[in-house]
Amino acid sequence: MIPSHTTAAVLTAPRGTIAVASVPVAAPGAGEVLVRMEACGLCHSDLFVASLEKLPRVPIVLGHEGIGRVEVLGSGVAGFAVGDRAGITFLASTCGACELCLTGRERFCPRQLNFGYTVDGALAAYVVVPAPLLFRVPDALPAADAAPLCCAGWTAYGALREAALRPGQSVALFGMGGLGHLAIQYARHLGLRVAAVDVSESKLEMARSLGADLALAAENAGRTLQKQWGGADAAIVLTGSPAAIQQAFRSLKRTGTLITSGLSTNQYELPIVDTVLKGISIRGSYLGTRADLEEVFRLAQSGVGRAHIETHPLDQAPELFEMMRRGEILGRAVVVF
Ligand code: ZN
Ligand code: ZN
Repeated sequence: MIPSHTTAAVLTAPRGTIAVASVPVAAPGAGEVLVRMEACGLCHSDLFVASLEKLPRVPIVLGHEGIGRVEVLGSGVAGFAVGDRAGITFLASTCGACELCLTGRERFCPRQLNFGYTVDGALAAYVVVPAPLLFRVPDALPAADAAPLCCAGWTAYGALREAALRPGQSVALFGMGGLGHLAIQYARHLGLRVAAVDVSESKLEMARSLGADLALAAENAGRTLQKQWGGADAAIVLTGSPAAIQQAFRSLKRTGTLITSGLSTNQYELPIVDTVLKGISIRGSYLGTRADLEEVFRLAQSGVGRAHIETHPLDQAPELFEMMRRGEILGRAVVVF
C-alpha cells in the first residue's frame, strides 16, 4: 500500500531549522522502490548539510543511515522482492559509466546523488528510493543496531582500510562519536594498537571500555603520543575539527599517514616542512567500497562493530540534532519508526 503522506525530518532552508513535517509520498517509478523505514541513525553529516549556505534543493528530508523493508516495487527492479531488508546509505545513485564507477570506486563518481542532500533521505516513515545502490542487510541484525553501520560503520571501516596498516602497527583515532566508537572495534579486530582521542571524558571512558590501549584528552594528544609510543603509524580524524587534524598530524611517526574522514567547511593549514621532511602521507577517505560495507555487516553479526545506540521516536529528531551539535550524544542516536 502506498500512503499519500509520511512524517519526515525536514531541513526547511539552507542553514534553516530541522522540523518534523508531513510530506507527500509518490508511487515508485521505474527502477525505484518504496521502503517502509524501521530505523535511521542521526549523523554529523546531516548537520554538515544543515550548515551549508547553498543546497541543491530545499526543503529536503535528511537521513542517510536507514534500514527498512521493501514495501512496493517499481517497474524493472531486479534483486529485491517485497519484504526484503534494505539499507540506505549516503550514496543514492551514481552514473555507472565513468572510470570511477567502473573500477569499484563509485563513491567518488562526480555525478553521484546523495540521500539527505540531493535526494530525500531516510528520516521518514516511508521513502521512495532508486534501487541500484540499496544494500542487502542481514535479517539477523535488529534494524536499530544495523542503521549506524550504513554510514558510521562503513566510513570508520573504510578509513581504517585506507590507512592500510599491518597487525601490530598503531593507529590514533581522533573523535570518539558514532564513527570513533566503531573504529576502535574494527582497529582491534585488525590487530592494531589503538589510541582514542576526544575532548569528552565520558566518550574516552567508553573508548577504554571498548578496549582502546590509550585514551587521551585532545589537548596535547600529539605530544603525548610521541612521548608514549614514539608516534602512531596512522592517525584517522573522524571529526571535522581543524584542531583535531592538527593534533593528529603531530601524533604521527615519520612516514606516517594522516587520514581525514570528517566533513567540515573549516580550513586546515598544511605544515609543509614536516610533511616533506617526515614523508607524511595525507589522504581523504569517504565511505568505503561495497565489499567494505558487506564486511561491516558480517562483522556486526559476529559481535565486532556493535554500535552503542539510544533509540528515539522521529518527533525527537530536531532536539537530538541539537544535542549532537553540542557533543552530548554517546555512541549513536537512532530514530525508530
Ligand atoms: Zn553520515
Ligand atoms: Zn560515475
